[in-house]
Amino acid sequence: MASVVTRFAPSPTGHLHLGGARTAIFNWLLARHFGGTFRLRIEDTDLLRSKQEYTDSILASMRWLGLDWDGEIVYQTTRTELYNSYVEKLLASGNAYYCSCTSEEVEAMRQKAKAQGLKPRYDGHCRNLGLGPGDGRCVRLRLPDSGRVVFDDLVKGSIAVDVKELDDMVIRRADGMPTYNMAVVVDDHEMGLTHIIRGDDHVSNTPKQILLYQALGLPVPRFGHVPMILGKDKQKLSKRHGAKAVIEYEKDGLLPEALVNYLARLGWSHGDQELFSRDELIRFFDGTNLNPSAACFDDVKLAWCNAHTMREMPLSELVAKVRPFVSTLGFGTLESERLEPLCVMFRERASDLLGLAESFRPLLLNATALEYAEKDARKHFVPAAAVHLKVLEGLFASCEPFDAEHIDAVLNAYVADNGLRFKEVAPPLRTALMGFMGGSHLNEIMAFLGKEETVQRLARARAFCEKG
Ligand code: GLU
Ligand code: ZN
Repeated sequence: MASVVTRFAPSPTGHLHLGGARTAIFNWLLARHFGGTFRLRIEDTDLLRSKQEYTDSILASMRWLGLDWDGEIVYQTTRTELYNSYVEKLLASGNAYYCSCTSEEVEAMRQKAKAQGLKPRYDGHCRNLGLGPGDGRCVRLRLPDSGRVVFDDLVKGSIAVDVKELDDMVIRRADGMPTYNMAVVVDDHEMGLTHIIRGDDHVSNTPKQILLYQALGLPVPRFGHVPMILGKDKQKLSKRHGAKAVIEYEKDGLLPEALVNYLARLGWSHGDQELFSRDELIRFFDGTNLNPSAACFDDVKLAWCNAHTMREMPLSELVAKVRPFVSTLGFGTLESERLEPLCVMFRERASDLLGLAESFRPLLLNATALEYAEKDARKHFVPAAAVHLKVLEGLFASCEPFDAEHIDAVLNAYVADNGLRFKEVAPPLRTALMGFMGGSHLNEIMAFLGKEETVQRLARARAFCEKG
């Protein structure tokens, strides 16, 4: 097989969304699986809606997702001449012709066909008039008189369309601009595409594009049309379903590995495996097992996938990734030696980087700034707790070295030697240290805070207990 070439061809009319990201992922995976080439093309011909800021944002999201592309980016707006050279070829070979019909005339033809119960289409009025170029004249493709366009879709299987369903489509408008399908076919050919995976909102363009390939005598690539991503209620995916642009997931501290993993599974499967490393995705994704029915976006499963990724990734990587979120929250720039124990303590409890950074908050404040959760304070800061906290203050003050192991020994000895139960001592201690009944292992929390801060927190909480 010739080397696989795929592409992603976004229109820069908005940020990269989940559907686009998934299309990009599938094409990227297919290329990487076969050791092929993944190209990027910016379909910026809609001058009113296309914006440079969106192109920049899409590229940034691609980079963030780790979807590296090969070769130069192709911008459609720079290629009008190229497209027109293909239009000229079609004119020269007789596969295309000039049409002088006005839009009113074409509309009238459509209405007439409709009235006869036929598909609304251009009736071929100028097909054999032998018109040359002229003001107000577009160029149309001459379709075969009969026959079917058949293709084997990677996702949907065999698709056949009778040419009677189609009409001699415009390939260059009267203003000299090639039309969308014309540009796409020229680009896909020039860029050497062998496989095109895209949203099934394009499936009706495909027979038209295939007719163009055939008229030009060009090889037709393989197509795969993936169904839309829907919300859980089977409606078109939107913010309402908790779906966000890729750039927002980045801001909120999702891990790109998790988003790639989750989206790859949305409409593709490999047995019942849910969690994949990037290498596994590349190894298993070969363009088969793409699901022809619509997949539903599930933000809970995405969060689960992200939590898993966060748990499994190397600690040093997690530290590097959480650091910017720690600064954003105003906790300053922390050394890796400080961030590492925090990540160890909290990585299993958070579902994204922002949540992870946020969970560090109680440990990064000074004792006096710690706020107590009202419910927990009321329940655990009782006079009896003051006694425990007072003794522990003294014991911890003389605990040397003040590390997790020795702290644990001190705490356990206090509980055992006094015939106490852990659950009498731990809740007030935890509330004193964290401000609420959450967090990680008490000894690790205290080791992180250090002796002085620990003792201060206990003393401050004791004052509350004594007030009752
Ligand atoms: N630019 C098109 C889009 O954003 C993609 C066209 C294609 O994949 O052929 O939907
Ligand atoms: Zn005409």
